[in-house]
Amino acid sequence: MTLLLFFPVLLFGQLRNSDVYKLPEMGKENIRENINIPGFDGYETLKCDFHIHTVFSDGKVWPDIRVNEAWQQGLDAIAITDHIEYRPFKDKVLGDLNESYNIAKGHADHLGFILIKGAEITRNKPIGHLNALFINDANKLALEDPIDALHEAKRQGAFVMWNHPGWPDDKSTLYPVHEQLLKDNLIDGIETFNFLEYYPLTFDYANEYNLAYMGNSDIHHLITETYGGEKLARPLTLVFSSERSEKGIKEALFARRTAVLFNGSLAGKDDILRKLFNAAVHVKKIENNSGYTELSNTSDLNFILLIGNYRYCLSPNKTLRLKLPETGRVIVENCHTGKDSKLEFILPLQ
Ligand SMILES: [Zn+2]
Ligand SMILES: [Zn+2]
Repeated sequence: MTLLLFFPVLLFGQLRNSDVYKLPEMGKENIRENINIPGFDGYETLKCDFHIHTVFSDGKVWPDIRVNEAWQQGLDAIAITDHIEYRPFKDKVLGDLNESYNIAKGHADHLGFILIKGAEITRNKPIGHLNALFINDANKLALEDPIDALHEAKRQGAFVMWNHPGWPDDKSTLYPVHEQLLKDNLIDGIETFNFLEYYPLTFDYANEYNLAYMGNSDIHHLITETYGGEKLARPLTLVFSSERSEKGIKEALFARRTAVLFNGSLAGKDDILRKLFNAAVHVKKIENNSGYTELSNTSDLNFILLIGNYRYCLSPNKTLRLKLPETGRVIVENCHTGKDSKLEFILPLQ
């Protein structure tokens, strides 16, 4: 009994002096989830969250904690996007609109983690909220007219995302002001998923206006308070990038090479999800006349397959053996490619 109790301490503890017994610094904060999502066409898949708040707007968390949370949960990059116009703690938490990024940036550099500078332009509907990413000075976005703020963001080279189109009124209406912004190239991406909700209409907007599919936490509290600590519980924007860098992410976003992973489902343009599925799932026909085909999922993604009259769950790192129906038709029920469309293909793949 004595041995059992003290064995781990003997192995990993460190006697600092006769008054203090210091446990080693190998706690949870130094443990990171490895997320396995393959890339394709020479691009690697980066796991990102482009919508995050801190105490410098209406969040409840100090900026560098956001970097820790993301690193621990296996992300490759985040953007800190505090509200420009809504800062309820500004009398208590001093600093300008760049302060939250500056604090987090020191820590991100220490960890070798990619931190993108952003801000949320925050107005009532119809225009609503818009995130400007890859900016260099958030203070210059504090302008009376939100259109002026967007032009200033663009002058700084920003990628602009239309945030949570279905919030707060449960209507994802694309208003004339958005049509004008789209015409003027002032919107590049759209949040199809935000916090705990997704907006089916935005899948069609993304397809029709060639916007990047984005899915983010918009987290205000600790990430585990909202999503728990389970692997892949928080929503992610998957970015298919030629390199692991801010530059690579920016290029990929402007090229619309993204998909969204939320609650075990994916959303994205048809060609992107098709390539992602092909990279994740290997299909093999068994060459012994048994009529079996094997689908091997080599990723941490989950796929729900509708084949004939049956629904199969192809879980992460599992192989499914089945007899294909005549048609070979497979619908991937949890891969949204539009408001009313799912990823679909015929097996065996040509
Ligand atoms: Zn917002
Ligand atoms: Zn927000």
